[in-house]
Amino acid sequence: MPIQIPADLTIVTLRSSGRELTQRWTDAYARSVLQGASDLLHARADIEFRLGTCERVVEEMPSGAQADTIDDAGYHYLAAAHGAGNGIRALLVDRVSRAELGGQARQQTRVCLITYGADLGATSRMFAHELGHLLALPHVDGARRSGPGQEREIAAWMRNLMYSGALNPAAELTAAQVRLARSSALARRFGGR
Ligand SMILES: [Zn+2]
Repeated sequence: MPIQIPADLTIVTLRSSGRELTQRWTDAYARSVLQGASDLLHARADIEFRLGTCERVVEEMPSGAQADTIDDAGYHYLAAAHGAGNGIRALLVDRVSRAELGGQARQQTRVCLITYGADLGATSRMFAHELGHLLALPHVDGARRSGPGQEREIAAWMRNLMYSGALNPAAELTAAQVRLARSSALARRFGGR
């Protein structure tokens, strides 16, 4: 039996100076991207993310945060305003100030941010990568050094779902990563060990 984790989706449109900013996520596309991410993690780690709720909200960023994109202050504001329910929550936003906001806070809040991408496969992999972080997986290339001598490791890292750079369609997970994900605090809430 796969571990089944509920995923609540919140499409967040920003409002600034009284008008709503661009939001390219649609409900149908959000569901397709979640399905793609879930299929990938099901195939690699026997962990599924099932759609819970899907809602749309309009938010104005607080003072101290950038108004027209999501920055770290914006992430913390949204994660507090739209906390996770039983499983995880993905905040689907049109754009972010930089990749991977929230850092270490993501694992505690079980809230991740997914920025819009027009390519379904690439956006699903990015979502699966963020779900990997919620499942306690760090970047596979965290121990990267500069200089020669790591060519073989780097080639393997680049095929891994938890690579810090652009994600390869292979999106591999090692046996050790699968064990770690299935025994993470998030997975244990839903029967993992
Ligand atoms: Zn990452």
